[in-house]
Amino acid sequence: MKRHWSLGELAHYPFLDDAKDYIRERGPDPERLLEGWGDMKNRAQERVIQAVKEGKVLGRYLDDDIMKEDELFSYPVARMLVSCIADNYLIRRYALGEAERVADRLKLEDKEVLLALGEELRVPGIPRGDRIDVHFIDYLENTANLKTSGWKLVNQDLRKGRVLLPVSRYIRILKERVMNDMIDGLPIAVTDPDLLDNFRAHINKVQEALDEFRAETDRLDLGRVEPGLFPPCIRHLLAQIKEGVNISHDARFSLTAFMHKSGLGKGEIISVFSESPDFREDLALYQIEHIIGEISGTEYTPPGCDLMLTTGLCHNPDELCGRDWMTHPLTYYSVRKREGSGA
Ligand code: SF4
Repeated sequence: MKRHWSLGELAHYPFLDDAKDYIRERGPDPERLLEGWGDMKNRAQERVIQAVKEGKVLGRYLDDDIMKEDELFSYPVARMLVSCIADNYLIRRYALGEAERVADRLKLEDKEVLLALGEELRVPGIPRGDRIDVHFIDYLENTANLKTSGWKLVNQDLRKGRVLLPVSRYIRILKERVMNDMIDGLPIAVTDPDLLDNFRAHINKVQEALDEFRAETDRLDLGRVEPGLFPPCIRHLLAQIKEGVNISHDARFSLTAFMHKSGLGKGEIISVFSESPDFREDLALYQIEHIIGEISGTEYTPPGCDLMLTTGLCHNPDELCGRDWMTHPLTYYSVRKREGSGA
């Protein structure tokens, strides 16, 4: 039987069909939106700015029905603000921020709510003791971006076409679904000039936050990082990119994870890849955020020398590479840094 969602639950999960119906029936129409609803508009702006700056929309304690309605109604307005700017990076960042908020909330819910939500999100689960199982097709569809071996289907408890999952993993899958649905649903068309004028100040504030965040991540901080001391394999990949060579997927992964672990920021990593002939900022940023753990929640470690050798990425190893104990490009880099500092 379909669950009856309370107003508080709709406020926490505003993407539900019942939430949309509630907003349609009781939410502000565009004219009333122009006239007032200041708290709700400010919350909408706050949602987007928190997503940009913190990587997460912070959940609120919803004291009474007015707060619950403000929270619920602020969601479509936040989507509208994001749509007015229509920047792919902002869309993904906002979707991630909302999905993080939802995941935090789901950790507090009982299984009944989780399963009802899973049903609505088209990832139906069946309770099995303290675990939940899902059909392997739903599993595959919602874990496509989770690249660590722990998420591979072959490493799951698979029984008769269903994957048995701890609750925390089911929540992780629901989070992916929320995020991907949001990305797919944005931007929405916003063409009403009065509405755009009315929200100009909020739109400008979001744009400012986005510009500031980008400027911050773009800031070069090579004081800490010394690319000249990188191992030969990594220097070779950097040189290839400079020469306009399209490097392989494995090479991109290794380089990104290495640069991140050695202290380079997202902006610096993206500026390295911007020299690739097939560079697309939105895709590159998405891949980088996955590897450094902002989207996947898993921060990847760059491959060690063994794997680099197997994938053909170990290049021109020098005398330091030849030491018995040299097993990782990051070890190479830290030894060279130590030597450089005279330590
Ligand atoms: S031995 Fe290791 S550090 Fe040296 S080039 Fe090969 S992969 Fe890189």
